[in-house]
Amino acid sequence: MDSLYKLKNFIFDLDGVLYLLDRPLTENISFVNFLKEEGYRVIFLSNNTFLTREKYAEKLQKMGVNASPKEVFSSAFVTAKYLEQNFPQSRVYIIGEEGLREEIKRCGLRVVAGNTRDRVDFVVVGMDRKFSFSKMSSALRFLTKGARLIGTNPDPTYPTDKGLLPGCGAMVAAIETCSGQEALIVGKPSPLIMDFVLSVTGFKKEETVLIGDRLDTDIVLGKRFDLFSVLVLTGVTTREDLKNAECKPDLVVENLLEFKDLLLEGGALCRGSKFMTLP
Ligand SMILES: [Mg+2]
Repeated sequence: MDSLYKLKNFIFDLDGVLYLLDRPLTENISFVNFLKEEGYRVIFLSNNTFLTREKYAEKLQKMGVNASPKEVFSSAFVTAKYLEQNFPQSRVYIIGEEGLREEIKRCGLRVVAGNTRDRVDFVVVGMDRKFSFSKMSSALRFLTKGARLIGTNPDPTYPTDKGLLPGCGAMVAAIETCSGQEALIVGKPSPLIMDFVLSVTGFKKEETVLIGDRLDTDIVLGKRFDLFSVLVLTGVTTREDLKNAECKPDLVVENLLEFKDLLLEGGALCRGSKFMTLP
């Protein structure tokens, strides 16, 4: 395991990396378990807001991933922590699903209904499979009266095993357009989410790898923080997309067994503080 000596921490995106909705990506999962058995530190960093940390850990465990809730950082969890730390007990209108709602409640924030006549401090938007004109109208009303707009993440689409769905970013954009207010984004590629992860985990940048399937979130964030970034082609990005990409990953692999082989073969992979370029 000499080749991995400089790398200690592995940050995995979830959708398109460890599963597609409910279908596990078994080759990638086996790499996670391999790292954990070898004693490397692994965390899961997802822009998804459907579930709580506990439910993500449960979902991962059912798919055979050795995961605990403390290792899961979703944009729902980090958005809730951001509000708790900076605006405790504020009043929040949520567009989103159960995971986002639950994480926000746990942080002592007050969740209000769309028809409230009381003050609202924040409109927080996550992916919502029941997004509607009525929810948009409530958001617009609160924003017009002074609430601030927070987007949990900017993902334009969401990958499933049956193709793409509209993502949170599309819903945020709709509300930005009607309100004229630009959202503060907490999830990837915002530095807010990585600052939080690095401060909680204590990971050193030069020892950390970020693995994801999206150029505009995972890889951009990896570059911003000078982490070694790996794009895996099991999710939304194709080789064709890469040709015109402004932000290129340090490494592109079809799946994570390919990454594992490269790590094991490349004896000099991580010498010094800089990584060598892999084939
Ligand atoms: Mg993904």
